[in-house]
Amino acid sequence: MAEPATTTEVTPTRESEVTLEPITRDTLISVLRLKVAEHQTSYVATTAVSVAQASFDGRAWQRSIHADGVPVGYVLVDLGGGDDPRPYLWRYMIDARYQGLGFGSRALTLIMQRVLELEGPGRFSTSTVPGEHSPQAFYERLGFAATGEIEDGEVVLARQLVAAEPRSAPGPDTGAPAPGSDFYCERVLSGDVHVRIVERSGDVLAFHHTRPRWPVHIVVIPTRHVPSLTDLGPSTDGPPEQLLADLLAAVRRVAAQVEREHGAARVITNLGSYQDSKHLHWHICSGKPIGDDGL
Ligand SMILES: [Zn+2]
Repeated sequence: MAEPATTTEVTPTRESEVTLEPITRDTLISVLRLKVAEHQTSYVATTAVSVAQASFDGRAWQRSIHADGVPVGYVLVDLGGGDDPRPYLWRYMIDARYQGLGFGSRALTLIMQRVLELEGPGRFSTSTVPGEHSPQAFYERLGFAATGEIEDGEVVLARQLVAAEPRSAPGPDTGAPAPGSDFYCERVLSGDVHVRIVERSGDVLAFHHTRPRWPVHIVVIPTRHVPSLTDLGPSTDGPPEQLLADLLAAVRRVAAQVEREHGAARVITNLGSYQDSKHLHWHICSGKPIGDDGL
């Protein structure tokens, strides 16, 4: 059976512009043809089922995800009402042909920004079917964490959507505790705050930021107190050169991994009034800032 042409000659790449578009008469057929990989089919409903369900739910918000204009994925958000007034990511998929290009995290970041605009700050949740190919790790990289709830056999994950910080307080540390405090010694290294560790080697710890400002946001710190890159503190704990070498080696490993997986990364360390937490730390981030338009 001959299939009507539904795509243009554009082949989406990692550099493609990702947008969220209303589903139209022109795009409906290509949206309905979107499919996840075979091994993922037990984790997500078909797009046809989702589009049909959305038409019976007044608070449903659905979009097709485009890369350079080509439909590559689909999202359906329940904006709340009924049992729970808070927004819930009901369906989310990237077509198997377009996975591995970073569209999943970039589109979800756009979705979070849109839900924040529509519903204001607050909880945004989703749920995943447990199993070998569960997308739970994907959501965790985007700041979701398991809430401990299980609903209809699915693991509930949630994160907070927060309003953009005023631009008068620049720097990636915005959102951290009061300036001058040492979040890392006082909360993280003390064990007060649970962090998801990326790697630990010698005197260096890398972990996912507890309040990520980017879709990928990893922090690398020394496990003993060092004030900043320009103030290494008293060198009573051994030569600072060794610690710096160990830190940079960890930063390189983590950044290389993020670069490989997402195609781009930034490595930042803040100084002076840009540095909210007075403990040397590097941010390794990728993607567009969440709840903000620029760096
Ligand atoms: Zn410290």
